[in-house]
Amino acid sequence: MKKRRRLSLEEYQEGVLSGSRVGLSRAITLVESTLDSDNELAAQLIDKIYDYTGKSFRIGITGVPGVGKSTFIEVFGQLVLENKKKLAVLTIDPSSQKTGGSILGDKTRMEKLSRSADAFIRPSPSGDALGGVAHKTRETMLLCEAAGYDFILIETVGVGQSETSVKNMVDFFLLLMLAGAGDELQGIKKGIMEMADAIAINKADGDNIDRAQKAKKEYQNALHLFPANENGWVPEVKTCSAVNSEGLVEIFQLLDKFQVEQKQTGYFALNRKEQAIHWMHQTIHHFLKQNFYKSPEVLKNLSKFEDEVRQGNKHSVKAARTLLNQYYK
Ligand code: GDP
Repeated sequence: MKKRRRLSLEEYQEGVLSGSRVGLSRAITLVESTLDSDNELAAQLIDKIYDYTGKSFRIGITGVPGVGKSTFIEVFGQLVLENKKKLAVLTIDPSSQKTGGSILGDKTRMEKLSRSADAFIRPSPSGDALGGVAHKTRETMLLCEAAGYDFILIETVGVGQSETSVKNMVDFFLLLMLAGAGDELQGIKKGIMEMADAIAINKADGDNIDRAQKAKKEYQNALHLFPANENGWVPEVKTCSAVNSEGLVEIFQLLDKFQVEQKQTGYFALNRKEQAIHWMHQTIHHFLKQNFYKSPEVLKNLSKFEDEVRQGNKHSVKAARTLLNQYYK
């Protein structure tokens, strides 16, 4: 295959700002690259487009596999498009990093949405051993904003640590749940519930309606036990049926209400500022870590030290400190 000519910074920038999907896709590929030279160019690109970012409404959506995320996003996405918004859906699937397989599946997800000219769907990069997925997702989000997408949905699987990262890059965090058989609070970690700005109990259809209503009450009670949000927002519990398109308009309206209220009180902007500080630190952590694990001094001894720790010949703190000293020398 003929290798594509390397684009210049200006070409990347122009590609993103023109709103072309191809331009955006290429820029995302650049951001996802693990090559040092690409990383440098990607950083310059983010710098160039930064002034055009920040205008979208950023939503995180999570839930265990099978809860109906892709069905929900497919239908919800149509509502977004009907409201004359351009929608980007970014998916983070931590399973694909470990196994090469994917919880989110190889099935065609969000088929209708993916055919729409105003929707852009992109799975997260996989296989980044240095834990930079969240970092890259955030930069991808910025690229989408610069390309004119004003509604960003970031989907995670609800079983990993990625939820916390996502919570830290979105304005609103939606948790999809199922009405279980009496063990409503078991399936998903309490910490994830605590992050939710709203819970939607999906599959409230057929003979599941009563159970969904009952679950709604239970979740409402559970949410009351969490400390109040500083921003004054009280998380709501809704029921919906993604397959029947029921209850989704109400959820869309709830998001809208959140946005209006939070902008009025100033907490919307405040949250973004706090997040910006968070990402400053995350970026520092990311690059320090990356630099450390790439450095020849560290690479020379790392696996040897791992062996020594494994065999009990060196304790972990000593091994770590020795490596750090070698790195800083
Ligand atoms: P994901 O793994 O969270 O993305 O879940 P999917 O969207 O792939 O849905 C998993 C299964 O649940 C599919 O067979 C869907 O058709 C089904 N499903 C999704 N939403 C609903 C719903 O509202 N009601 C019912 N009865 N089934 C649903």
